Amino acid sequence: MREPSPPDINLIPNGAFGQEDYGATYLIEGEEFALVDPGTSDSVPRLLDWFKENSLSPSRLSSILLTHIHLDHVGATGGLVDELSDLKVYVHDRGAPHLVDPSDLLASVKDVTGTRFSEYGTLKPIPEDRVVSLDERSTINLGSRELVALPTPGHAPHHVAYKDLATGAVFTGDSAGLYLGEELIPTTTPPSFDLEKSLASLRKIAKLSPSVLLYSHFGPGPEPIKLLDEYELILREWVELISDLNRSYEEEELVNEVLNRKRDWLGNGFTEEELAMNVRGVQRYLSWKGN
Ligand SMILES: [Zn+2]
Repeated sequence: MREPSPPDINLIPNGAFGQEDYGATYLIEGEEFALVDPGTSDSVPRLLDWFKENSLSPSRLSSILLTHIHLDHVGATGGLVDELSDLKVYVHDRGAPHLVDPSDLLASVKDVTGTRFSEYGTLKPIPEDRVVSLDERSTINLGSRELVALPTPGHAPHHVAYKDLATGAVFTGDSAGLYLGEELIPTTTPPSFDLEKSLASLRKIAKLSPSVLLYSHFGPGPEPIKLLDEYELILREWVELISDLNRSYEEEELVNEVLNRKRDWLGNGFTEEELAMNVRGVQRYLSWKGN
């Protein structure tokens, strides 16, 4: 059974890629409301329906907090900004320009996802005056509640984690892996995965003394330090495995070999295509590291 979320933090399954338990959006209820990672562009009606079903007015939403700008996290943002006139969008300063003009971002997603591009939906451009760039340790105020944003690069250079000061919960986005069916799985997708930065970010998250980790894929993870330590090991072993296989296999053969070895990771919304992308992200990292 999934751990319950901390008080006044609701998990809304956003239905990314047609999977029920793969994409998690969180609603934080302060005097004002904030959403963390609203999901793909297809999630907009689903999120608005959730408000209706729970007798809450979406007009109480003042902020969207983005952990990073991969389309399965950010896509719904443009649609929600269109619907809700006072909504501000918080994002790492390296991600901000891509929300205002998403053309390079969309081209990059097309490049790494190939034929699966349409499943990722799109991102409507967001007016510049709605976007708030986050610096080192920015604070977000929801009236009765505050969050701190902390850069956590590695999965992507524009990644941030958020700590809710009221509960100690930390929203990890993709910086601490996927947590699917209570199993940790590496998330090393292209184009910018960086092992050393990822490991440093895991230590940074641990220093926040989280009470619980709230994964964007999927749900609350209890025992945060244990999970962070475990993920460090999994990530190191994963990169080592690809690095070893890289010496004996050509690209497509290598992907097949990894699929054979890691078949037990599949399921809970984690597909062969996702696994193949994680392989390619590590290969790209190894090639620019000169390995
Ligand atoms: Zn991501």
